[in-house]
Amino acid sequence: TILLEVKGVERRFQSSHGSTLALSATDLQVAENDFITILGPSGCGKSTLLRIVAGLDHPTAGEVLLDGRRVTGPGADRGMVFQSYTLFPWLTVRDNVCFGLRERGLPRAQQIEIAQGFIQKVGLTGFEHHYPKQLSGGMQQRTALARALANGPRMLLMDEPFGALDHQTRELMQELLLGIWEAERTTVLFVTHDIDEAVFMGSRVMVMSARPGRIKLDRPVPIPHPRH
Ligand code: ADP
Ligand code: ADP
Repeated sequence: TILLEVKGVERRFQSSHGSTLALSATDLQVAENDFITILGPSGCGKSTLLRIVAGLDHPTAGEVLLDGRRVTGPGADRGMVFQSYTLFPWLTVRDNVCFGLRERGLPRAQQIEIAQGFIQKVGLTGFEHHYPKQLSGGMQQRTALARALANGPRMLLMDEPFGALDHQTRELMQELLLGIWEAERTTVLFVTHDIDEAVFMGSRVMVMSARPGRIKLDRPVPIPHPRH
């Protein structure tokens, strides 16, 4: 079944110098349980597309439908993970993961129970009471992943999530995410400019070209996860 539909989406940015067409006539259908990687050079509109799906930005033409309903803003049904972790620095790992659950008014005991489950899944048991600045980049990104998953999103939206990590940590995080995807069957839309990563992670790979940004190739990966 189709979970996400991007229909004729265009994003034009206006400035004093004129306008930039960041995204042009973009169509995309994402089925439930797909792991889609979006590959393309810097500036081709990958982040713009992801931010529009997230509801953090709005198309200047076209529309985005999630479960058949028009996306008009951010929501707990889409969990975001950014390259820069974007954790709340004044909150512990556990409270970062609890954040959305707390917003939704869940009782504290239930927040903690759900948070602990995801903290365990991302391998951070024992670090619940640490603050982000006490953690390595990989551990911060594990926290961000747990926080995104704790809200039970319909899909994960990830913008170069491992781009700031060293090679070894990056591979560990790729394995972790694939394990979670296989176990939880979360639908994933994952932006990267690393070809190896795109082919290794994705069940489908999309390649975007710049000026104006559009999808120029979209195909299933025939042999998933060749590193295994
Ligand atoms: P990518 O993520 O592929 O690197 P982006 O989506 O960030 O690309 O950017 C696509 C194009 O849109 C670039 O030319 C970028 O400079 C432009 N752009 C992105 N955000 C804005 C903005 N807020 N205002 C003006 N131009 C923007
Ligand atoms: P990335 O390439 O990692 O997606 P960027 O560094 O291009 O991110 O952009 C970071 C932020 O700056 C984004 O929110 C994007 O919308 C904005 N941005 C990018 N290009 C421009 C631009 N030309 N003018 C104004 N804002 C921009």
